[in-house]
Amino acid sequence: MGKSELVASILANPASRHIWAHTDIRRGMLRVLAYHRVLDDDPETFPFDEALISASSEVFQQQMEFVRRNFEVLSFEDLEHCQREGRPWPKRSVIITFDDGYRDNYTHAFPILKALKLPAAIFISTSYMGDCTKLFWWDLVAYCFKHTKRSEVEFPQVHHQPLPLTSARDRHRAILRILRWAKQVPDEVKNQFIDQLAASLEIELPSDIAAGMHLTWEQIKEMADGGIEFGSHTVTHPILANVNEAQLETEICESKKIIEQHLGKEVLVISYPDGRKPHYNEQVQQLAKAAGFHFGIAYEEGPVSEKKCDYFAMPRIHVEQDQTMSLFRANLMFPKIMMMRKNNIQHHRSELHS
Ligand SMILES: [Zn+2]
Repeated sequence: MGKSELVASILANPASRHIWAHTDIRRGMLRVLAYHRVLDDDPETFPFDEALISASSEVFQQQMEFVRRNFEVLSFEDLEHCQREGRPWPKRSVIITFDDGYRDNYTHAFPILKALKLPAAIFISTSYMGDCTKLFWWDLVAYCFKHTKRSEVEFPQVHHQPLPLTSARDRHRAILRILRWAKQVPDEVKNQFIDQLAASLEIELPSDIAAGMHLTWEQIKEMADGGIEFGSHTVTHPILANVNEAQLETEICESKKIIEQHLGKEVLVISYPDGRKPHYNEQVQQLAKAAGFHFGIAYEEGPVSEKKCDYFAMPRIHVEQDQTMSLFRANLMFPKIMMMRKNNIQHHRSELHS
Protein backbone atom coordinates (compact mmCIF):
# COMPACT_ATOMS: atom_id res chain seq x y z
CA MET A 1 0.00 0.00 0.00
CA GLY A 2 1.40 3.41 -0.99
CA LYS A 3 1.58 6.27 1.51
CA SER A 4 -1.33 8.14 -0.06
CA GLU A 5 -3.43 4.99 0.17
CA LEU A 6 -2.46 4.56 3.82
CA VAL A 7 -3.37 8.16 4.67
CA ALA A 8 -6.58 7.75 2.69
CA SER A 9 -7.57 4.53 4.43
CA ILE A 10 -7.17 6.25 7.82
CA LEU A 11 -8.98 9.43 6.77
CA ALA A 12 -11.80 7.60 5.00
CA ASN A 13 -12.45 4.76 7.46
CA PRO A 14 -16.02 4.48 8.80
CA ALA A 15 -15.21 6.18 12.15
CA SER A 16 -13.55 9.20 10.50
CA ARG A 17 -16.40 9.41 8.02
CA HIS A 18 -18.92 9.42 10.87
CA ILE A 19 -17.10 12.23 12.69
CA TRP A 20 -16.67 14.17 9.44
CA ALA A 21 -20.36 13.80 8.59
CA HIS A 22 -21.32 15.33 11.93
CA THR A 23 -18.71 18.02 12.23
CA ASP A 24 -17.68 19.29 8.82
CA ILE A 25 -20.16 22.06 8.24
CA ARG A 26 -17.75 24.61 6.78
CA ARG A 27 -18.98 26.50 3.81
CA GLY A 28 -16.92 28.05 1.10
CA MET A 29 -15.26 24.99 -0.36
CA LEU A 30 -16.25 23.44 -3.66
CA ARG A 31 -14.91 20.18 -5.06
CA VAL A 32 -15.00 19.89 -8.83
CA LEU A 33 -14.51 16.25 -9.84
CA ALA A 34 -12.69 15.65 -13.15
CA TYR A 35 -13.53 12.56 -15.20
CA HIS A 36 -12.77 11.66 -18.82
CA ARG A 37 -14.15 8.23 -19.71
CA VAL A 38 -16.27 5.66 -17.87
CA LEU A 39 -15.62 2.31 -19.55
CA ASP A 40 -15.44 -1.38 -18.73
CA ASP A 41 -12.70 -2.29 -21.23
CA ASP A 42 -9.48 -3.89 -20.06
CA PRO A 43 -6.84 -1.12 -20.02
CA GLU A 44 -4.15 -3.70 -20.93
CA THR A 45 -5.66 -4.48 -24.33
CA PHE A 46 -7.37 -1.14 -24.96
CA PRO A 47 -6.54 0.00 -28.52
CA PHE A 48 -6.63 3.74 -27.73
CA ASP A 49 -5.33 5.86 -24.85
CA GLU A 50 -6.19 3.82 -21.76
CA ALA A 51 -5.05 6.57 -19.36
CA LEU A 52 -8.26 8.45 -20.16
CA ILE A 53 -10.44 5.76 -18.55
CA SER A 54 -11.30 7.30 -15.19
CA ALA A 55 -13.44 4.46 -13.82
CA SER A 56 -15.45 1.36 -14.73
CA SER A 57 -19.26 1.61 -14.59
CA GLU A 58 -19.33 -0.30 -11.32
CA VAL A 59 -16.76 1.94 -9.66
CA PHE A 60 -18.41 5.06 -11.06
CA GLN A 61 -21.73 3.91 -9.61
CA GLN A 62 -20.13 3.45 -6.16
CA GLN A 63 -18.43 6.84 -6.40
CA MET A 64 -21.67 8.57 -7.36
CA GLU A 65 -23.60 6.87 -4.56
CA PHE A 66 -20.99 8.11 -2.08
CA VAL A 67 -21.17 11.62 -3.53
CA ARG A 68 -24.97 11.64 -3.35
CA ARG A 69 -25.03 10.47 0.27
CA ASN A 70 -22.47 12.95 1.52
CA PHE A 71 -22.42 16.04 -0.69
CA GLU A 72 -24.64 18.58 -2.35
CA VAL A 73 -24.15 18.21 -6.09
CA LEU A 74 -24.43 21.50 -7.97
CA SER A 75 -24.39 22.60 -11.58
CA PHE A 76 -22.46 25.58 -12.89
CA GLU A 77 -25.85 27.20 -13.32
CA ASP A 78 -26.40 26.87 -9.55
CA LEU A 79 -22.97 28.35 -8.95
CA GLU A 80 -23.75 31.25 -11.25
CA HIS A 81 -26.96 31.92 -9.31
CA CYS A 82 -25.02 32.01 -6.03
CA GLN A 83 -22.55 34.41 -7.61
CA ARG A 84 -25.24 36.67 -9.05
CA GLU A 85 -27.34 36.77 -5.89
CA GLY A 86 -24.36 37.08 -3.54
CA ARG A 87 -25.36 33.86 -1.76
CA PRO A 88 -22.65 31.71 -0.15
CA TRP A 89 -21.96 28.32 -1.72
CA PRO A 90 -23.83 25.44 -0.06
CA LYS A 91 -21.77 23.43 2.39
CA ARG A 92 -20.07 20.29 1.03
CA SER A 93 -20.68 21.26 -2.56
CA VAL A 94 -19.49 19.17 -5.47
CA ILE A 95 -19.65 19.60 -9.24
CA ILE A 96 -19.16 16.52 -11.43
CA THR A 97 -17.36 17.18 -14.74
CA PHE A 98 -16.19 15.22 -17.79
CA ASP A 99 -13.67 16.45 -20.37
CA ASP A 100 -13.59 15.79 -24.14
CA GLY A 101 -17.05 14.39 -25.01
CA TYR A 102 -16.54 10.63 -25.33
CA ARG A 103 -19.54 8.47 -26.24
CA ASP A 104 -19.26 6.48 -23.00
CA ASN A 105 -20.35 9.58 -21.09
CA TYR A 106 -23.75 8.86 -22.68
CA THR A 107 -23.75 5.04 -22.69
CA HIS A 108 -22.05 4.38 -19.35
CA ALA A 109 -22.12 7.48 -17.11
CA PHE A 110 -25.42 9.15 -18.01
CA PRO A 111 -27.70 6.20 -17.02
CA ILE A 112 -26.06 6.16 -13.57
CA LEU A 113 -26.28 9.94 -13.14
CA LYS A 114 -29.90 9.90 -14.28
CA ALA A 115 -30.90 7.09 -11.91
CA LEU A 116 -29.28 8.94 -9.00
CA LYS A 117 -30.67 12.29 -10.18
CA LEU A 118 -27.25 13.92 -10.20
CA PRO A 119 -26.40 16.87 -12.43
CA ALA A 120 -23.03 16.94 -14.22
CA ALA A 121 -21.18 19.02 -16.79
CA ILE A 122 -19.56 17.67 -19.96
CA PHE A 123 -16.95 19.77 -21.77
CA ILE A 124 -16.91 19.00 -25.47
CA SER A 125 -14.41 19.68 -28.25
CA THR A 126 -17.03 20.56 -30.83
CA SER A 127 -15.32 19.53 -34.09
CA TYR A 128 -15.15 15.89 -32.97
CA MET A 129 -18.79 15.51 -31.95
CA GLY A 130 -20.62 13.10 -34.25
CA ASP A 131 -17.48 12.49 -36.35
CA CYS A 132 -16.69 8.79 -36.80
CA THR A 133 -13.62 9.33 -39.00
CA LYS A 134 -11.39 11.38 -36.74
CA LEU A 135 -9.81 10.35 -33.44
CA PHE A 136 -8.62 12.77 -30.79
CA TRP A 137 -4.93 13.16 -31.50
CA TRP A 138 -3.76 11.39 -28.33
CA ASP A 139 -5.97 8.39 -29.19
CA LEU A 140 -4.49 8.36 -32.69
CA VAL A 141 -0.96 8.35 -31.25
CA ALA A 142 -1.87 5.46 -28.95
CA TYR A 143 -3.62 3.55 -31.75
CA CYS A 144 -0.70 3.90 -34.17
CA PHE A 145 1.93 2.84 -31.65
CA LYS A 146 -0.17 -0.07 -30.42
CA HIS A 147 -0.80 -1.38 -33.95
CA THR A 148 2.46 -0.78 -35.80
CA LYS A 149 4.53 -3.78 -36.86
CA ARG A 150 7.73 -1.75 -36.92
CA SER A 151 10.32 -2.64 -34.32
CA GLU A 152 11.61 0.91 -34.01
CA VAL A 153 10.97 4.35 -35.39
CA GLU A 154 12.98 7.52 -35.65
CA PHE A 155 11.59 10.96 -34.88
CA PRO A 156 14.66 13.18 -34.44
CA GLN A 157 12.53 16.18 -33.49
CA VAL A 158 11.14 14.19 -30.55
CA HIS A 159 14.10 12.12 -29.41
CA HIS A 160 17.74 11.94 -30.46
CA GLN A 161 17.70 8.14 -30.63
CA PRO A 162 15.35 5.74 -32.44
CA LEU A 163 12.38 4.72 -30.31
CA PRO A 164 12.30 0.94 -29.80
CA LEU A 165 8.87 -0.67 -30.24
CA THR A 166 9.42 -4.34 -29.55
CA SER A 167 7.62 -4.68 -26.20
CA ALA A 168 4.38 -3.22 -24.82
CA ARG A 169 6.53 -1.28 -22.38
CA ASP A 170 8.58 0.26 -25.21
CA ARG A 171 5.45 1.28 -27.04
CA HIS A 172 3.99 2.81 -23.90
CA ARG A 173 7.17 4.83 -23.36
CA ALA A 174 7.16 5.96 -26.98
CA ILE A 175 3.53 7.11 -26.65
CA LEU A 176 4.36 9.14 -23.52
CA ARG A 177 7.36 10.72 -25.23
CA ILE A 178 5.29 11.75 -28.25
CA LEU A 179 2.45 13.13 -26.12
CA ARG A 180 4.85 15.15 -23.99
CA TRP A 181 6.62 16.56 -27.07
CA ALA A 182 3.36 17.33 -28.90
CA LYS A 183 2.12 19.42 -25.99
CA GLN A 184 5.16 21.69 -26.13
CA VAL A 185 5.36 22.59 -29.81
CA PRO A 186 3.25 25.06 -31.84
CA ASP A 187 -0.11 23.54 -32.69
CA GLU A 188 0.56 23.44 -36.46
CA VAL A 189 3.80 21.52 -35.88
CA LYS A 190 1.89 19.01 -33.75
CA ASN A 191 -0.87 18.68 -36.36
CA GLN A 192 1.59 18.13 -39.18
CA PHE A 193 3.35 15.44 -37.18
CA ILE A 194 0.06 13.74 -36.27
CA ASP A 195 -1.10 13.81 -39.91
CA GLN A 196 1.99 11.85 -40.97
CA LEU A 197 2.17 9.50 -38.01
CA ALA A 198 0.19 6.58 -39.45
CA ALA A 199 2.34 6.61 -42.61
CA SER A 200 5.56 6.80 -40.56
CA LEU A 201 4.46 3.77 -38.56
CA GLU A 202 3.14 1.97 -41.67
CA ILE A 203 -0.41 1.78 -40.40
CA GLU A 204 -3.55 1.76 -42.52
CA LEU A 205 -6.23 3.62 -40.59
CA PRO A 206 -9.81 2.30 -40.98
CA SER A 207 -12.06 5.02 -42.44
CA ASP A 208 -14.52 4.62 -39.55
CA ILE A 209 -11.82 4.46 -36.90
CA ALA A 210 -13.78 6.73 -34.55
CA ALA A 211 -17.11 4.89 -34.89
CA GLY A 212 -18.83 4.99 -31.50
CA MET A 213 -16.07 7.14 -30.03
CA HIS A 214 -17.55 10.60 -29.63
CA LEU A 215 -20.92 11.93 -28.57
CA THR A 216 -23.42 12.77 -31.29
CA TRP A 217 -25.42 15.99 -31.18
CA GLU A 218 -28.61 13.93 -30.64
CA GLN A 219 -27.08 12.38 -27.54
CA ILE A 220 -25.88 15.77 -26.37
CA LYS A 221 -29.40 17.17 -26.75
CA GLU A 222 -30.95 14.22 -24.94
CA MET A 223 -28.53 14.62 -22.05
CA ALA A 224 -29.03 18.39 -21.95
CA ASP A 225 -32.76 17.69 -21.49
CA GLY A 226 -31.91 15.21 -18.75
CA GLY A 227 -29.96 17.44 -16.37
CA ILE A 228 -26.50 17.49 -17.98
CA GLU A 229 -24.87 20.83 -18.64
CA PHE A 230 -22.55 21.28 -21.63
CA GLY A 231 -19.48 23.46 -21.66
CA SER A 232 -16.77 24.25 -24.16
CA HIS A 233 -13.54 22.29 -24.42
CA THR A 234 -12.63 24.36 -27.53
CA VAL A 235 -13.19 23.34 -31.17
CA THR A 236 -10.12 21.15 -31.88
CA HIS A 237 -8.58 20.58 -28.41
CA PRO A 238 -5.25 22.36 -28.94
CA ILE A 239 -3.03 23.42 -26.09
CA LEU A 240 -4.30 27.00 -25.96
CA ALA A 241 -0.90 28.50 -25.21
CA ASN A 242 0.42 26.91 -28.44
CA VAL A 243 -1.96 28.56 -30.92
CA ASN A 244 -1.85 32.01 -32.53
CA GLU A 245 -4.23 34.77 -31.56
CA ALA A 246 -6.68 34.24 -34.43
CA GLN A 247 -7.00 30.52 -33.69
CA LEU A 248 -7.29 31.19 -29.97
CA GLU A 249 -10.28 33.36 -30.61
CA THR A 250 -11.89 30.75 -32.90
CA GLU A 251 -11.29 27.93 -30.42
CA ILE A 252 -12.86 29.86 -27.55
CA CYS A 253 -15.66 31.83 -29.24
CA GLU A 254 -16.72 29.36 -31.96
CA SER A 255 -17.05 26.43 -29.59
CA LYS A 256 -19.38 28.49 -27.39
CA LYS A 257 -21.45 29.59 -30.37
CA ILE A 258 -21.73 26.08 -31.84
CA ILE A 259 -22.96 24.54 -28.57
CA GLU A 260 -25.40 27.40 -28.03
CA GLN A 261 -26.78 26.96 -31.56
CA HIS A 262 -27.33 23.25 -30.98
CA LEU A 263 -28.83 23.57 -27.51
CA GLY A 264 -30.50 26.99 -27.65
CA LYS A 265 -29.06 27.86 -24.27
CA GLU A 266 -26.24 29.99 -22.89
CA VAL A 267 -22.95 28.16 -22.34
CA LEU A 268 -21.49 29.30 -19.03
CA VAL A 269 -18.25 27.42 -18.77
CA ILE A 270 -15.09 26.45 -20.62
CA SER A 271 -12.53 23.84 -19.62
CA TYR A 272 -9.05 24.50 -20.99
CA PRO A 273 -7.51 21.47 -22.79
CA ASP A 274 -4.72 20.00 -20.66
CA GLY A 275 -5.44 22.89 -18.35
CA ARG A 276 -2.29 23.21 -16.33
CA LYS A 277 -0.12 26.30 -16.63
CA PRO A 278 1.69 27.00 -18.94
CA HIS A 279 -0.87 25.21 -21.19
CA TYR A 280 -3.25 28.10 -20.54
CA ASN A 281 -2.29 31.64 -19.56
CA GLU A 282 -3.54 35.11 -18.70
CA GLN A 283 -4.43 35.82 -22.35
CA VAL A 284 -6.57 32.66 -22.50
CA GLN A 285 -8.36 33.59 -19.28
CA GLN A 286 -9.01 37.16 -20.48
CA LEU A 287 -10.38 35.96 -23.77
CA ALA A 288 -12.65 33.39 -22.08
CA LYS A 289 -14.02 36.20 -19.92
CA ALA A 290 -14.47 38.51 -22.91
CA ALA A 291 -16.26 35.74 -24.86
CA GLY A 292 -18.94 35.71 -22.17
CA PHE A 293 -18.04 32.61 -20.18
CA HIS A 294 -18.66 32.83 -16.44
CA PHE A 295 -16.20 30.12 -15.42
CA GLY A 296 -12.88 28.79 -16.75
CA ILE A 297 -11.93 25.33 -15.54
CA ALA A 298 -8.31 24.25 -15.20
CA TYR A 299 -6.75 20.85 -14.58
CA GLU A 300 -4.60 21.88 -11.65
CA GLU A 301 -5.42 19.79 -8.59
CA GLY A 302 -7.25 20.96 -5.52
CA PRO A 303 -10.52 22.17 -4.05
CA VAL A 304 -11.91 25.60 -4.96
CA SER A 305 -12.00 28.08 -2.10
CA GLU A 306 -14.84 30.60 -2.25
CA LYS A 307 -12.73 33.35 -0.67
CA LYS A 308 -9.76 32.94 -2.97
CA CYS A 309 -11.57 31.75 -6.07
CA ASP A 310 -10.19 32.74 -9.47
CA TYR A 311 -13.29 31.98 -11.52
CA PHE A 312 -11.14 31.58 -14.63
CA ALA A 313 -8.68 29.08 -13.17
CA MET A 314 -10.78 26.73 -11.06
CA PRO A 315 -8.85 23.61 -10.01
CA ARG A 316 -10.36 20.12 -9.87
CA ILE A 317 -10.05 16.82 -8.08
CA HIS A 318 -8.88 14.18 -10.56
CA VAL A 319 -10.42 10.73 -10.71
CA GLU A 320 -8.12 7.98 -12.02
CA GLN A 321 -8.89 4.34 -12.73
CA ASP A 322 -6.30 3.05 -10.27
CA GLN A 323 -7.73 4.93 -7.29
CA THR A 324 -9.29 2.88 -4.52
CA MET A 325 -12.63 3.89 -3.01
CA SER A 326 -10.76 5.02 0.13
CA LEU A 327 -8.62 7.37 -1.91
CA PHE A 328 -11.65 8.71 -3.76
CA ARG A 329 -13.49 9.33 -0.47
CA ALA A 330 -10.48 10.93 1.24
CA ASN A 331 -9.82 13.21 -1.78
CA LEU A 332 -13.38 14.49 -1.50
CA MET A 333 -13.71 14.69 2.28
CA PHE A 334 -10.25 16.07 3.04
CA PRO A 335 -9.10 17.58 -0.25
CA LYS A 336 -6.62 20.00 1.29
CA ILE A 337 -4.74 17.30 3.20
CA MET A 338 -4.80 14.89 0.25
CA MET A 339 -3.75 17.46 -2.36
CA MET A 340 -0.92 18.68 -0.17
CA ARG A 341 0.39 15.11 -0.14
CA LYS A 342 -0.22 14.59 -3.81
CA ASN A 343 1.35 17.84 -4.95
CA ASN A 344 4.54 16.68 -3.33
CA ILE A 345 4.55 13.51 -5.37
CA GLN A 346 4.88 13.67 -9.13
CA HIS A 347 1.77 11.93 -10.28
CA HIS A 348 2.82 9.99 -13.35
CA ARG A 349 -0.49 9.58 -15.04
CA SER A 350 -2.57 12.71 -14.59
CA GLU A 351 0.47 14.81 -15.35
CA LEU A 352 0.15 13.79 -18.96
CA HIS A 353 -3.55 13.91 -19.67
CA SER A 354 -6.64 15.93 -19.53
ZN1 LIG B 1 -9.33 17.25 -22.85
